[in-house]
Amino acid sequence: MTDATPTARYQRILVKLSGEALLGNEDYGIDPSMLKRIAGEIRDLSQMGVQVAVVLGGGNIFRGAGLARAGMDRVTADHMGMLATVMNALALQDALEAQGTYARVMSAIRINEVCEDYIRRRAVRHLEKGRIVIFGAGTGNPFFTTDTAASLRAIEINAELLLKATKVNGVYSDDPMKNPAAVRYARLTFDKVLTDKLNVMDATAVVMCRDNRLPLRVFNLNNPGDLTRIVRGEDVGTVVTVE
Ligand code: UDP
Repeated sequence: MTDATPTARYQRILVKLSGEALLGNEDYGIDPSMLKRIAGEIRDLSQMGVQVAVVLGGGNIFRGAGLARAGMDRVTADHMGMLATVMNALALQDALEAQGTYARVMSAIRINEVCEDYIRRRAVRHLEKGRIVIFGAGTGNPFFTTDTAASLRAIEINAELLLKATKVNGVYSDDPMKNPAAVRYARLTFDKVLTDKLNVMDATAVVMCRDNRLPLRVFNLNNPGDLTRIVRGEDVGTVVTVE
């Protein structure tokens, strides 16, 4: 570490990125320039000495609920959604390694020829060795979301903070894209998120964080450098805690 290297306030964090984050300027799939940028930001965190785990969504490829609305059996649709998250995870692993950072995809669904199975102790070992661990296939169960997978994995690996990427600067009283009068909260409690039905993560994920006292920070992925600022301890976006 050089004098210029910013010091990290956290030892271990988990970053949740939706599949949409990878869309960039595309309508479907992955925008290579966006993937490269995100990989660069995650590499920077790792170079600060923080252990980084990532959960990726799959909404840029398939969402189970959407496929089910189109007539598909929901469980099959969710299996497709989970496989989509594995594809995104492989893409991120590749982009990280292209930038000289070691990464491992661990899948909640066995798919051994492609990536490792999720085994908690092994995941923690990878993190301790400075590898970025990308959790694919969500929780491995239909009817769940990758937000819930993010809170579950963060708790399992004892992450100190869950960082949830969005397209706006935190949590607002209303959709800021539609309502210009919407105000941004700097701090919130999980209970307020639930009672006011604020659009942060699904209720299962929020309850998991609340009951396990895992702090959550919602930030704007479109602001390059925000991830680094948060890890340095700056008050960026919205922080959600128990009290
Ligand atoms: N999914 C699932 N179980 C999980 C996580 C995800 O069945 O534990 C499926 C579900 O169909 C979901 C899709 O994978 O729609 C993609 O995940 P998500 O919608 O959470 O992705 P994001 O919105 O974050 O891109």
